[in-house]
Amino acid sequence: MRRILRINGDIPLMGSVAFGLIDRGTNLIQVRPSSSCPLSCIFCSTDAGPKSRTRRTEFLVDLNYIISWFERLVESKGISDIEAHIDTVGDPFLYPKIVDLVKRLRDIPEVKVISAQTHGPLLTQKLIGELEGRIDRINLSIDSLEEGKAKYLAGSDWFRIDKVIEAAKRVAQSSIDLLIAPIWVPGLNDEDIPKIIEFALSIGAGKIWPALGIQKYEAYRGGRKPKGVKPISWGEFYRKLAELEREFGVKLILSPDDFGIRKVKPVDPRLRKGEILNVKVLGEGWKVGEVLAVARNRVVTVLDSPPVPPGSLIKVRVIRDRDNIYYARFTGGV
Ligand code: SF4
Repeated sequence: MRRILRINGDIPLMGSVAFGLIDRGTNLIQVRPSSSCPLSCIFCSTDAGPKSRTRRTEFLVDLNYIISWFERLVESKGISDIEAHIDTVGDPFLYPKIVDLVKRLRDIPEVKVISAQTHGPLLTQKLIGELEGRIDRINLSIDSLEEGKAKYLAGSDWFRIDKVIEAAKRVAQSSIDLLIAPIWVPGLNDEDIPKIIEFALSIGAGKIWPALGIQKYEAYRGGRKPKGVKPISWGEFYRKLAELEREFGVKLILSPDDFGIRKVKPVDPRLRKGEILNVKVLGEGWKVGEVLAVARNRVVTVLDSPPVPPGSLIKVRVIRDRDNIYYARFTGGV
C-alpha cells in the first residue's frame, strides 16, 4: 500500500516536483495539490497510477495551505497576468477540492487564466458544469479514439474513451476552452493522430487558444517506457507536425507566445547546486530510494540516503537547483 502524506502546514510547498507550486521563471505557476492518478498510462513520464512500481508516497495538500503559498508567490512575482496551471504528476481532478481550488484561484486578482491538464477519466458532465465560468481552459489528452487502443495506452481496462469523447464535446460547447493534447508515442498511435486532429477541429476545440497541443513521447528516467518504442528526434517531430499543419490547415507547432506565456524573473533560489548543507529529514520520499527533507523553507529530495528517522539532520550536496526544484545527494554525515 502506498502511503498518503497529507500536507497542511510545516512542509514547504516549493522544492518538489510532486506537490506544491513550481515557478519556472514565467508568468505561469504550476499548481500541484495532489499527486495521485487513477490511470497507469504505459508511457507515463512520472510513473503514476495503481501500476506504479516506483512511487511509495502520494501527496495531498490542504486547500487553504496551498492558496496561502500561491498568494505569497504571486505577491513576490509582482505581476498581474498570472496563469495558474493545475497540472500535477497525476490527475488534478482526483483532488477532492478541485472545484474549490479553482474558485479560490479565481478570487486572486492577479490570476488572469486558470487551466488544468488531464486525460479525462474523471471529467463528468457534473464536474464540467461546476467548472464552467470558473476555469478558462482544459488541456485534455486523448491519445486514441479507439476503445481498445485507448485502454491499452492508458494501462487501464476500465478506461472509457467514449466517456472522455462525450466530455470533450461538452467542454467544447461550454465557455471553457478546450485544447486536445495527445501524447504521440511512435509506432503505437501514429495513425490515431490525424483522426484526433480531425476530431478536435470537428467539435470546436480551441476557441481562444490553439485547438491542439500534440506532445512528444520522451523516455524519462523514472518514467514508464513501452517496450520497443524509441522516441523520435525533435527535428523529426517538428517535421511531422509541419506536414500535418499543411494537411489540416491548423497550427500545431506551438510556442509559449500562443498562450501569452512570457519570461518573468523567478523567485530567488534558496539553495545552490554544489552547495553542501544540513537538511532536516521529513520521512520517506515520493519514490523508492528518495528521502523527503527540508532546508531554508524549501523541500529537498535526497537520493542515496540510508534509512534515518524523521527529524534527523543529514549532510547533503545539492545536485539540482533549476526552477526552485531541489535534489541532493547524501554525503555521509549524519
Ligand atoms: S500520463 Fe497522466 S493520466 Fe496517464 S498515468 Fe501518467 S499522470 Fe496519469
